[in-house]
Amino acid sequence: MRHYRWLRPDRRPVPASRCPFCGAIQGTKKPALHLYLSNLFLRAQKWVHRSVFECVGQQRSRTDLTVTAGGRLTRLARTRSHYSGEPVQYASEALRNHRHLPLLPDTQGAQAVLESAVMEKLGRGGEWWAHPVGIAGVHLAPHRSVVVLDSHSGSRPGKKFPTSDYALAHLLPSAEPGVQVDGVMRLRVVGVRNLDLHLKLVNTGSSLVLRGTPGTRWLHLLAERRRDLEEGGFVPLWDEPGPSSYELEDEREFASLVQRGRDLAWLGSGLLRRIAIFQHASTAYSTRSWITGDEWIFELDTHRDVPLAHDEFLKSLVDDVWGLPLKVKRRFCDCSSQSTARRGYQCTYYLEHRDPEVPGIMQIRFRWGDAVYGDDVRERLEELKADQEWLDRVLPRRSSQRGGSVVRKGGPR
Ligand SMILES: [Zn+2]
Ligand SMILES: [Zn+2]
Repeated sequence: MRHYRWLRPDRRPVPASRCPFCGAIQGTKKPALHLYLSNLFLRAQKWVHRSVFECVGQQRSRTDLTVTAGGRLTRLARTRSHYSGEPVQYASEALRNHRHLPLLPDTQGAQAVLESAVMEKLGRGGEWWAHPVGIAGVHLAPHRSVVVLDSHSGSRPGKKFPTSDYALAHLLPSAEPGVQVDGVMRLRVVGVRNLDLHLKLVNTGSSLVLRGTPGTRWLHLLAERRRDLEEGGFVPLWDEPGPSSYELEDEREFASLVQRGRDLAWLGSGLLRRIAIFQHASTAYSTRSWITGDEWIFELDTHRDVPLAHDEFLKSLVDDVWGLPLKVKRRFCDCSSQSTARRGYQCTYYLEHRDPEVPGIMQIRFRWGDAVYGDDVRERLEELKADQEWLDRVLPRRSSQRGGSVVRKGGPR
């Protein structure tokens, strides 16, 4: 809006989640007060425009404003989809229907603990999926999330298993009497609706849906999992109405582990809600993670045929509006050796919350070099139906003399 520009010397449009009055991001302070002040500010601008400058031209009609708002909405929806992996249409509707929320809503409490546990268990790796961590995207609401799973995971060429199976094996809690509880403590199955498996943490209002690909038979898989465990002498816990004695005992015995889970929940949940940047903003073809102490370690492998570009990923990760409130605490960047490194190199970044009171460290190992976990990564990922455009970016086909991941079209070998 041209005649407002004198009030905004930087001439940049205000992102919807920023208060135009003070620049603070909505949701970080008192949203109601911010909305009120923003409104007041816009009214004041209009008043100045009409009364002080007596300007009558350039006043946009309502339709123009709507069109402008619509264009901006689409842009915002695309960015949100870039982070969450939501379909743009879904992101657009979510933005339109929840104007009072931050552009990418985060969560806390039990909901964050639940989402973080899912991120930890599925991110552990050891397998290949079409998308990093086996998650095609996440549909976000403040107190609920839908995690859309890839169809299959594969550890070896020619061997693939439904990701739904993998998820159940890693997430659902079971006890071996006298030994530690496996899976996510207090996780419970609420029910199954078509492709959706509804989960929660017992005695909380948390809610997470695992959405399987068409053909997923959750009830069948649950029954199978139960039978396997019971035959092996384990006790399935996901249908227990309250916290089981096994879980309570473990929580007492491993209190520090439970605390660690809570401490890192903001990070795990925040990353799950931004899962798509591991695909869209990263040059890595392999993303693996695990937790050691209070550090959540990520190993992102970039193939030597592709220049490692970790700054783009870090920029998305810490973005003021869309990213997590992280800051780089320490860095060891070896990118200057990219041209001379024979086998490869690693850059290591340590990030922590901008508020020093918040515990938890994210360690990212950006590795560059020869293919890890085997030479045939591209074939495996193609077999798992990974996106071709993404594959061409992170694992480009090589010219035939170099072998490796070449797909030969006939001719002599
Ligand atoms: Zn403000
Ligand atoms: Zn570097």
